[in-house]
Amino acid sequence: MATKYVYSFQEGDGKNKKLLGGKGANLCEMTQMGLNVPPGFVISTEACLRYLDDKALPSELMADVRQHIQALEKATNKGFGDANNPLLVSVRSGSAISMPGMMDTVLNLGLNSQTLQGLIKHTNNERFGYDSYRRFIQLFGKVALGVPDEAFDEHFEAVKKRVWAKYDVALGVPELKEICDLFLQVVRERTGRPFPEDVFEQLEIAIQAVFNSWSGRRAVDYRREFHITPDMANGTAVNIVTMVFGNMGNDSATGVGFTRNPGTGENQMYGEYLVNAQGEDVVAGIRTPKPVQDMEAEMPSMYQQLVELRNKLEQHYREVQDYEYTIEKGVLYCLQTRNAKMNATAMVRTSVEMVQEGLITQHQALLRVNPEHLEQLLHPRLDPERTAAPLAQGLPASPGAASGKCVFDADHAEILGRAGEKVILVREETKPEDIHGFFAAQGILTSRGGKTSHAAVVARSMGKPCVAGAEGIHVDTRAREAIIGDTVLHEGDIVTIDGSLGHVYLGAIPTIPPKFSEELKTLLSWADSVAQLKVMSNADTPEAAAKAVEYGAMGIGLCRTERMFNASDRLPIVVEMILANTPKERQVALDRLLPIQRADFYELFKAMAPRPVTIRLLDPPMHEFLPTESELVEQLEHLRHLQTTVQGMSNLMSTLRLMSDVTVPQNLPAPFDLSGEDLIKQGLMKREQMLRKVRELYEVNPMLGHRGVRLGITYPEIYAMQVRAILEAAADCMRDNVPANVEVMVPQVVTLQELRHVKQIVNDTQTEVEQQRGVKLNFKFGTMIEVVRACMRAGQLAEIAEFFSFGTNDLTQATFSFSREDAENKFLPLYIEHGLLRDNPFEVLDVNGVGQLMAMTVEWGRKNRAGLKVGICGEQGGHPASIRFCHHIDLDYVSCSPHRVPIARLAAAHAKLLEDKYVVE
Ligand code: PEP
Ligand code: MG
Repeated sequence: MATKYVYSFQEGDGKNKKLLGGKGANLCEMTQMGLNVPPGFVISTEACLRYLDDKALPSELMADVRQHIQALEKATNKGFGDANNPLLVSVRSGSAISMPGMMDTVLNLGLNSQTLQGLIKHTNNERFGYDSYRRFIQLFGKVALGVPDEAFDEHFEAVKKRVWAKYDVALGVPELKEICDLFLQVVRERTGRPFPEDVFEQLEIAIQAVFNSWSGRRAVDYRREFHITPDMANGTAVNIVTMVFGNMGNDSATGVGFTRNPGTGENQMYGEYLVNAQGEDVVAGIRTPKPVQDMEAEMPSMYQQLVELRNKLEQHYREVQDYEYTIEKGVLYCLQTRNAKMNATAMVRTSVEMVQEGLITQHQALLRVNPEHLEQLLHPRLDPERTAAPLAQGLPASPGAASGKCVFDADHAEILGRAGEKVILVREETKPEDIHGFFAAQGILTSRGGKTSHAAVVARSMGKPCVAGAEGIHVDTRAREAIIGDTVLHEGDIVTIDGSLGHVYLGAIPTIPPKFSEELKTLLSWADSVAQLKVMSNADTPEAAAKAVEYGAMGIGLCRTERMFNASDRLPIVVEMILANTPKERQVALDRLLPIQRADFYELFKAMAPRPVTIRLLDPPMHEFLPTESELVEQLEHLRHLQTTVQGMSNLMSTLRLMSDVTVPQNLPAPFDLSGEDLIKQGLMKREQMLRKVRELYEVNPMLGHRGVRLGITYPEIYAMQVRAILEAAADCMRDNVPANVEVMVPQVVTLQELRHVKQIVNDTQTEVEQQRGVKLNFKFGTMIEVVRACMRAGQLAEIAEFFSFGTNDLTQATFSFSREDAENKFLPLYIEHGLLRDNPFEVLDVNGVGQLMAMTVEWGRKNRAGLKVGICGEQGGHPASIRFCHHIDLDYVSCSPHRVPIARLAAAHAKLLEDKYVVE
């Protein structure tokens, strides 16, 4: 039996978008629902694929098309090619996935020198007839015959110029007639043949042209860009639809609508229309459409029909629709419908309200919302109405937008921030000692570094916007200016950064604040009731913990204690600790840190109680708390220079004092008196000491060097202090009836022996604290899994560890054997562009490599300790596709930065709801 390629709107399966394309399937479905759709039929995507393979239309296709045209003639009482009462059709592309504007469409097909007269007679509008004809010749000429637009435009503009017509509407019938003739001539000259008068020939050529547009450059690029695989959409269908006209008088109109407001989600009539007009008039901006609400007064019965249409569409599709309609002489036709694209606010609101209205279930509501889209709701955004163009482009390192005065160092940022000024910290790159500047700043801008540079990671953890690696900016900290092309930004100049897009603007651009609406809270509460994975947050401060709780975190999965060391009141003590030459000297500094850390932990436990809080013992290499060697060398040079100047000045003072005719004031300020010289000497000594230490601590490869548990073993007093601070804070909570839920976690563990060693420190400290406080402490002890050997020894580690937390930032580096910074700055973008890697594995969990190690670790760990709690706290823990994998391998929780928590909660629900469909690709 011959393959069936053509389906009338009455017979096509409205669910079969792959065969009929989205538009075609919906036209069939609407027809079969009883909506008033202009009669038409669909040529399937299978015909398209056959055509593209064979370079010719399937032999029986045009005969089928002729039959279906006959049916249209019957239904409309018009004739295709009939000079008195012509049937005109549109020939529209439409694949399974909408690719707006990427493929071709021809309108008013069926016009020729004969049928034109029929159209004029029928519409009683000569101008409209010729205008339609000239549009058809140009569109058909371009799409179907390959004549470039310019060849037509040249003539069109020349006629317009001659008659002083500024806009197309100013052209009268004689000019339009002349233009039609000129256009027909263009076609003849360019193609060597006259414009086809035979309407079936027109139709056949147009069908082929639409099929060809599937493999056109625009469409191919679009599919590549949006990852549309043949599996999702293969070939375009062709929809042949009777033309209806909205410009047949004041009882005609054309319009577009959404079944709900796509900006707010409000359940109301929404859209625009134009009386006595064609859709093209709206697109061409010739007339301004009116809000649909005006139709109620202007065309009341039409408005009622439109309300009905809208209600039927929603009731049927159970999804917000974006539809197009035409009213021809008081008859309403629905021309198209599709699921509406909405912003996140509208998606969330409509999801919740459609459940309340009984249109969809809670599960459907959850699945309607793309978790990533929630990002839009959680950060201030630039006002979408802005007109300013960006001054520079960097990497979108931490989302959100902020404006403020440019400040080139952290100290100054802190001073201005404390004084209530809004500042943007602008640096070449940032370091841990800049942390106080982060706290004070609205946002961070760097000219170097990738999405995981210090600036990016810290800004993300604080939820502050950051644009990193804006290489077009030359930051000159000494001159306190930044140069971008011809623009020089001086300290105090206002800039705006958009960390969601990586844009930098001059001046203040208004922002829109984030909104954590009641609807979002409701939706996420449904997500929590469905999800199996718990969602924790990475948080290091009580403020971050409060944000995490506000966003629904079920605990803290990672508190990086080193971040606490970086605060400006602690860093000097930490530096003292590092510079100490003996354990005794070190203990003096640690004794000063103990109460500070204890207070930190107490606040965190209290903010989160009774939710679990996982405190990780110190991880980074020591040198990260000190300035770099080159910075120290520069500072020393500067101080030595100052010393010489000050010495010169004080020699001068001494000489002046000896002169009887000069009176030198008694109390001169530093550096003119001795204390100035002393201060410089102290500064020099301190820096020389630091420089010696920095050189002593130098490592060829710090990422794989003296860090993590290795530090805890070589400097046991540091871990002992931290464990004591944690356990004393837990005891303080017991005293205050705060139900703290404490977990202690060890980083970078490679061997069971290391874990045992630290466990001993923990046990000893526990015994002491319990004796001193007269309490019995209850907490968990666990390990991070972030090196490959830890995965391989999971079974053994589980003998001691009560929980595992995958540190997939490090585990990814370890598995790929490349460092994130270098990879992202040097070759990863190229790898992704060339398809050597599909995603950045530091953002999207590499399920095939790292993921397999994780799966094995979970299995081996739980074999030795049934019910072992396992989670992830690397950055991928906040990424929806990675969360699906975490659910798949049965993790207990994911932990991510506070601002990713809502996204992760929804993604965890998706993971559960879609678990049967999950495949590791
Ligand atoms: C990790 O390695 O994934 C992790 C969470 O630790 P950090 O990022 O602090 O190295
Ligand atoms: Mg790590």
